[in-house]
Amino acid sequence: MLLGSAALATGLMNFPRSLAAAPARSEGTKDAMIQIDGVFQPAPLPYAYEALQPSIDTETMHLHHDKHYVTYTNNLNTALQQAPELKTKNIEQLLSSIKSLPDPVRKAIRNNGGGYYNHGLFWRMMAPKGTTKASDELTAAITKTFGGMNSFQEKFNKEAASVFGSGWAWMILTPGGELKITSTPNQDSPIMQDVAEVPGKPVLGLDVWEHAYYLKYKNVRADYIKSWWDVVNWQTASDLYAKAKTA
Ligand code: MN
Repeated sequence: MLLGSAALATGLMNFPRSLAAAPARSEGTKDAMIQIDGVFQPAPLPYAYEALQPSIDTETMHLHHDKHYVTYTNNLNTALQQAPELKTKNIEQLLSSIKSLPDPVRKAIRNNGGGYYNHGLFWRMMAPKGTTKASDELTAAITKTFGGMNSFQEKFNKEAASVFGSGWAWMILTPGGELKITSTPNQDSPIMQDVAEVPGKPVLGLDVWEHAYYLKYKNVRADYIKSWWDVVNWQTASDLYAKAKTA
């Protein structure tokens, strides 16, 4: 019990000696910190595992966060052992010029560093239904760019539905200051300036890997996408937009 299920699931995690003092983990509580060996640590969910129901079921959140995300994080840390000179870089620095990384670790960092970064954003891009609101600034930009919130969502849904295989749909701010809808394959991220088809700073992102929805939605990705809008964290999107604009 307690932290055991995630630890057994990955088989890679070492829990700290302070475990006894850590809060107990159970259904209905927020995620306790999962600590692993290495430079990068998985971020805890900013809400309870069941907080996004019915859009996203509790079991999917457990598997997605405690297993898939923790595995990306572990694999990123393992890759960095091959290139200790990179350990001083933060994740944005590692990913932004992925092609310049040394050969033996480039692919592992692209896949697992991308997974680490994208999911770290994704957890924050969701919130319990009806608890957040888009800023006036973001709403105005979406209206100006896409003709309104409904037509923005329609375009985003189309992009998310058309990702072939595994990947992500995004709304980004381009270096030119434009909002754009785009997608990336696998765990590529729009911040990978030298590999992303349309590079930019993420404002909103949706994971359309099957692991994100298959337990509940089976093969019907469109229903997952539709229901996801109920749990979008518009506060995070507004904050990311404001930050991207001033950066
Ligand atoms: Mn995922």
